[in-house]
Amino acid sequence: MGDAPVIPFLAGVVVALLVVGARWIVRRDQQSRRVERATDPYIEGLKLLVDGKKPEAFARLQQAIMAGGAPADAFVRIGRMLRENGDASKALQVHKSLTVKADLTREEKVAVYANVAEDYAALGHPERALETVEVATRRTGLRDAELSAIAARACHALGRTEEAYEHMKELKKAGGTTDREIALYLVTVAEKESDKGRARDAKKTLARALRHDPECAPALVAMARLEEQADDADDAIRLWRQAAQLSADLAPVALRSLERALYQRGTFNEIESVYRDVLETRPNDENAALGLASFYRKQGRMDDAMHLLEEYRGTNPATVAGTVLLSSLYAARGDTDELESFLDRSDRMLARDERYRCGSCGYEASEMRWHCPRCNRFDTFARTPR
Ligand SMILES: [Zn+2]
Repeated sequence: MGDAPVIPFLAGVVVALLVVGARWIVRRDQQSRRVERATDPYIEGLKLLVDGKKPEAFARLQQAIMAGGAPADAFVRIGRMLRENGDASKALQVHKSLTVKADLTREEKVAVYANVAEDYAALGHPERALETVEVATRRTGLRDAELSAIAARACHALGRTEEAYEHMKELKKAGGTTDREIALYLVTVAEKESDKGRARDAKKTLARALRHDPECAPALVAMARLEEQADDADDAIRLWRQAAQLSADLAPVALRSLERALYQRGTFNEIESVYRDVLETRPNDENAALGLASFYRKQGRMDDAMHLLEEYRGTNPATVAGTVLLSSLYAARGDTDELESFLDRSDRMLARDERYRCGSCGYEASEMRWHCPRCNRFDTFARTPR
């Protein structure tokens, strides 16, 4: 209690010391370290950027530039932030002003040109972006990943897909992309060619895609489609089988196509081994499980169908389609006791996963509502599966 006034007194001393110290530091700075002081806001700006504080970083970098002596990197970053905020033409001004500087390092030159190119691309001038990359490659002699990536995008925007592909291969050499991505890109190219009726080009492009990534499922599906159009059902079937094995996401389309193609060829019974192969790699694939069960049913192999569905529901209790199919099988066989106890169990299992969602704001409720507590609207709820 008695020493209460001592605290403000001590605080005053500390503040005085700080002020004196600060003055001394400032004077020393002003006299002998003018250049370093000028770059201080730059370093602060970088730190703020690392912390994700963009507006503050922008202010610091601007300060650094106005004080003079800021490195080219400060300009590059300011420009990039302008572009990201939608002001690409101002960004281009900033970045272009740097291209005339003579004392840039090779890395700085690459960064400047890459940003000029990005600015052009953002302004909707891919041809100028491409020119900028070409100039940069000539002047720096560098094969830079960033530049290759920009060139690939610009070529694609210009519809020059062959060149885009060449740039992507360069990019891969620099570690900027993978064979998987190149293959996926080529699938898009092939789709375009196919749409234009250039089936032979599309096939060539897909073959190329599969050389980059033999397990590229969309390439397999697209190739199968072309083979089917060319009346080569055997190749189409082989490719669809491969795709169904490789990709859970493309299995539905591949399986549907297989069912149709096998049926048309008059060898529909082969579908059993197709489903089995898929279930071996992915035991929880619903399309394959239900497809196989339906196949058994059509063949009159009711016990096989029920056994398969019981097993599938054991690991996937929430399956609606599986439950419907299994209950109709019990009903068809006239096994009412079994059906009743099964429906009892299903009821509980399915009810647990009901959700109701507001179509307006996405608010979720476990019971049906007619008024949304979040967006205050009426009659917006609907049942959604999980
Ligand atoms: Zn709502």
